[in-house]
Amino acid sequence: MTYSALRLFKETLTGNRGWKPAWREPEPKPRYDVVIVGGGGHGLSTAYYLAREFGITNVAVLEKGWLGSGNIGRNTTIIRSNYLLPGNEPFYELSMKLWENLEQDFNYNAMVSQRGIINLYHSDSQRDAFVRRGNAMLMAGADAVLLDEKGIREVCPFLDFDNARFPIKGGLWQKRAGTARHDAVAWGYARGADRRGVDIIQNCEVTGFDIRNGVCHGVTTTRGAISAGRVAVCVAGSSSRVMARAGMRLPIESHVLQAFVTEGLKPVIPGVVTFGAGHFYISQSDKGGLVFGGDIDGYNTYAQRGNLPVVEDVCEGGMAIMPMIGKARLLRMWGGVMDMSMDGSPIIDRTPVDGLYFNGGWCYGGFKATPASGFCYAHLIARDAPHPVATAMRLDRFRTGHVIDERGAGAQPNLH
Ligand SMILES: Cc1cc2nc3c(=O)[nH]c(=O)nc-3n(C[C@H](O)[C@H](O)[C@H](O)COP(=O)(O)OP(=O)(O)OC[C@H]3O[C@@H](n4cnc5c(N)ncnc54)[C@H](O)[C@@H]3O)c2cc1C
Repeated sequence: MTYSALRLFKETLTGNRGWKPAWREPEPKPRYDVVIVGGGGHGLSTAYYLAREFGITNVAVLEKGWLGSGNIGRNTTIIRSNYLLPGNEPFYELSMKLWENLEQDFNYNAMVSQRGIINLYHSDSQRDAFVRRGNAMLMAGADAVLLDEKGIREVCPFLDFDNARFPIKGGLWQKRAGTARHDAVAWGYARGADRRGVDIIQNCEVTGFDIRNGVCHGVTTTRGAISAGRVAVCVAGSSSRVMARAGMRLPIESHVLQAFVTEGLKPVIPGVVTFGAGHFYISQSDKGGLVFGGDIDGYNTYAQRGNLPVVEDVCEGGMAIMPMIGKARLLRMWGGVMDMSMDGSPIIDRTPVDGLYFNGGWCYGGFKATPASGFCYAHLIARDAPHPVATAMRLDRFRTGHVIDERGAGAQPNLH
């Protein structure tokens, strides 16, 4: 089904009775060329690019709940490519370029809004680190502008410049960054994959893997066994639990991250702003709600809810840079389970089991990666070789010492 102004006009006149579901509800077939475990953003984008880029359409996406029930529908919607390390930056810049054409690509309004991101700095040494990061971004073909305090005052006059505990000295600005409507991204990819023949099967939990003599032949599910040429796991916060069913222990811990939305306010925040002396980031949705978050709760859990000490910590961060936020009333808050890797960077790789692939370790930054993750994972599955921008995202890098420690925090998942 296509969406157009003409179609909208016709449906308005005929009582909106002609709209059809955006994707089918097929019964699982006994066999597929590729079975994707997890119908989050990454699973759906992988299915879409497998079909669109590589012509592989005999594909099933198996989702234990409903599309959008995981982190794809729980994140704070920030997209950006302001990374430092060569293992990360080209990958996230590919993602940014894919975001820029995404809506035309799948003819679906994902509300991609490139209003920019500003990372504030509060000391000379932090400025120097941001200069280095900005240069790395420019070398990878991304955009970066360093603003001084005057520049920040022009773009964000509402910040506290005069009485702040951590005075704002400037910021690193990526103008092409911004936000996208997270669940529409899942729906757009789902519709695009379904149209190309992919079966999207909801309420179908993968309960085990059919592994014989080191080769994966399929999966067992709550709706029966399904055999497959290749099985590709991308279950984000459930990574360690699902891969344990294949006998693997991952370099990943699961932690909860919370998000907060206020009542609708008049437009005030121009894009995304992040605090440099604490963990706090904020943007404003098209409906006017201030959308913000901060650190993970810092203990291992699979529960999709958070705790009050982190609410206090996040609100302190907000009050430290923009005290006016204290007057906004909170409407909603929720938690999502994050797959925190040991070095804070993701994994897109084969596993020691033939025919079994793994994608995870996205920490709290995987939404922005959705297009490139799907694109590179599809490349890996179709060609059995990593995409050039994802060669460093290997599962064995913790054994060989080739970690991608963007934050320099060491092997401490809760610090990344
Ligand atoms: C509060 C919060 C804020 C965030 N903010 C940002 C942000 O601003 N920018 C950013 O880039 N990232 C952000 N993230 C991170 C981002 O949302 C995740 O990294 C990303 O969504 C993970 O990939 P996914 O979409 O595939 O995950 P999910 O949507 O979680 O998909 C995984 C799916 O696997 C399914 N599944 C699990 N087990 C099984 C099984 N056994 N069988 C079948 N299916 C199974 C789950 O039901 C789920 O639907 C945030 C996350 C949270 C929670």
